Amino acid sequence: MSKGEGRGRFTWYDAELDRPSHERAAIEADLRQAIARYEIEPWFQPIVQMGTGQLSGFEVLARWKHPTRGEIPPEVFIEIAEDSGQIGNLGFNLLHRACMAARDWGRELTIAFNISPHQFLDSNLVAQLEEILKECDFDPRRLTIEVTESSIIHDFDMARAKLNALKALGVKVALDDFGTGYSSLASLRKLPFDRIKIDRSFVTNIAAEPQNQKIVTGIMALANGLELDVTAEGIESEQDRAYIETLHCSMGQGFLFDKAIPPDQVSWLLETKWSQHRVDATELTSGT
Ligand code: C2E
Ligand code: MG
Ligand code: MG
Ligand code: MG
Repeated sequence: MSKGEGRGRFTWYDAELDRPSHERAAIEADLRQAIARYEIEPWFQPIVQMGTGQLSGFEVLARWKHPTRGEIPPEVFIEIAEDSGQIGNLGFNLLHRACMAARDWGRELTIAFNISPHQFLDSNLVAQLEEILKECDFDPRRLTIEVTESSIIHDFDMARAKLNALKALGVKVALDDFGTGYSSLASLRKLPFDRIKIDRSFVTNIAAEPQNQKIVTGIMALANGLELDVTAEGIESEQDRAYIETLHCSMGQGFLFDKAIPPDQVSWLLETKWSQHRVDATELTSGT
């Protein structure tokens, strides 16, 4: 949990982890209610085609505005949901709502959805996903499932079987936060990923960081060799964007384009900022 997820967050985060267990238990109980009352919402962060600058789709990011505690970061409540056996309920509920929302957008945009380790191990995962896709009449080819290395390192054979079962549904699978784990090279060779997402710690401010330039250039060569698509996370500036474009990375995501936006604002953004033309620097800086 020390991965440096945003500066302002550390205070809250550290304080939260240090809280006495009765506080954590209180959040856990509140979480149960919040899930039942649909208070945790799927928000949407744009994923953009590099080069054309067109919108490709969104990553679904969970947001919880607690009535008294304020916004609780997903890394906090997702972990509590995992530990307390609630991640299945929460995750499937979020995906269901995200797919329903995406049907109303009127464009064949993709959605990327995060699956955490417990949910990945759940023997019902594939069947439940299939059910949601059917219920929402959502084209599986529009869905990418994102997993992190922590889901796959313990049992590669199981992971391969599970990823293949997901792909048999027609969905795509991506390895998230690439570069932060330990067995990345091995996992890439052995597992049927369609895409990797380069962790933002290598991408943000890349133009000024020669070490990160080497790492990301290496990752791109590897991905090309293995015929994997790549998304660069954490594009925060025009400089980040320009550098990443020189590496022929196909997709980008980051605060330069947009932060995660609430579901009820997506349609409006699709008609304005994210209409079909390339979004350029002036619009980005004067935008939302
Ligand atoms: P992730 O899947 O790697 O998601 C990307 C995170 O990076 C998001 O943080 C996003 O807001 C942030 N981000 C995107 N672009 C930038 C940028 O340019 N700069 C900076 N500083 N940050 C950027 P968020 O929403 O706080 O989520 C954190 C993590 O929580 C996610 O990392 C994911 O692992 C987990 N998470 C969020 N929603 C869900 C969910 O619905 N289910 C599961 N299982 N996990 C989720
Ligand atoms: Mg992700
Ligand atoms: Mg990530
Ligand atoms: Mg992450």
